[in-house]
Amino acid sequence: MKLLKILGLLILVIALSIAALFYYSLNSHVSIGEYEKWYEGVNKNPTPTDIKIQFVGVSTLVISDDSTTIMTDGFFSRFPAWDMLFGEIEPQKEDIKWAVDKLNIDQLDAILVVHSHFDHAMDAPEVAKLTGAPMYGSESTANIGRGWKLPENQIKVFQDRQPMQFGKFKVTPILSNHFVFANAAIKEQALGGKQEITAPLIPPVSALEYKMGGAYSFLFEHPSGSFLLQSSAGWKEGSLDGIQVDKVILGVGGLGSQTPDYQETYFKELIDKVQANHIYLIHWDAFAGSIRQPIQGPVRFLDWYAGATEEGFQAVERAMKERPNLKVNLLPQWEPVKL
Ligand SMILES: [Zn+2]
Repeated sequence: MKLLKILGLLILVIALSIAALFYYSLNSHVSIGEYEKWYEGVNKNPTPTDIKIQFVGVSTLVISDDSTTIMTDGFFSRFPAWDMLFGEIEPQKEDIKWAVDKLNIDQLDAILVVHSHFDHAMDAPEVAKLTGAPMYGSESTANIGRGWKLPENQIKVFQDRQPMQFGKFKVTPILSNHFVFANAAIKEQALGGKQEITAPLIPPVSALEYKMGGAYSFLFEHPSGSFLLQSSAGWKEGSLDGIQVDKVILGVGGLGSQTPDYQETYFKELIDKVQANHIYLIHWDAFAGSIRQPIQGPVRFLDWYAGATEEGFQAVERAMKERPNLKVNLLPQWEPVKL
């Protein structure tokens, strides 16, 4: 009898410890530690005619010259990890308004959405409503707009390799591939089946309802310089043939969880092929927490499950060793920097 009691107590202690560990891993974030060094050396004193980039998080950027302002994605909502994994999510209107106000944009000319997963597309229609800007994306992104009752005249579907002109910016969406999740279960959930949103998507819904809808690279061409935005750490062979840019804004989300072979091919396709000599790393940060708090690394559980942020930065460091002329930076949050 006594033995049974002790055994029972032991099982209880183990179960509570596992629960505590799970709770901790869902509510604490990984730190980027030594890689903060990559914030050094960005130019925080752009002149009015320079192309300016303001990074907010994930692949939300505000890109402007002296007369035109473009936002990518416009994702500002953040969620408890639990809700992203098991619950339902919807745009956080007050946080979106807070963030758009903080950016202090006079006039937004376009919102360009890289793909339709929630961490890119979900808030774009609300940003479009707040700013009056048109929202450009895939047919799936258009259905996210319709579900949010964005007026049809603000919903624009872009076409693969059809350039769009905004002031002096020529932006070409180029169909690429999404990052391939190393974890088979996530791969099936996030990329399996038909990855299209075929009817207006009305939140709150499960995060998985935001189906990918085609992942695009964006080529930005401008008299002051050209650059590429690759938000998702994937590539499509041959899709960037003939393109040359000095700078790439490069997504590294999940990259650390992939094989060295995958990582090296990604760098070859996105850096070597376009002859870039400067990369800015994005999409390394948390979707959890609050946009009103300073940017932070992913929630521990998600980082363990799919992110591997530190391993991703280590892969970038290996890439730098093989490319001595390659400059690598992180972008400071909210601050305009010269591209
Ligand atoms: Zn995605």
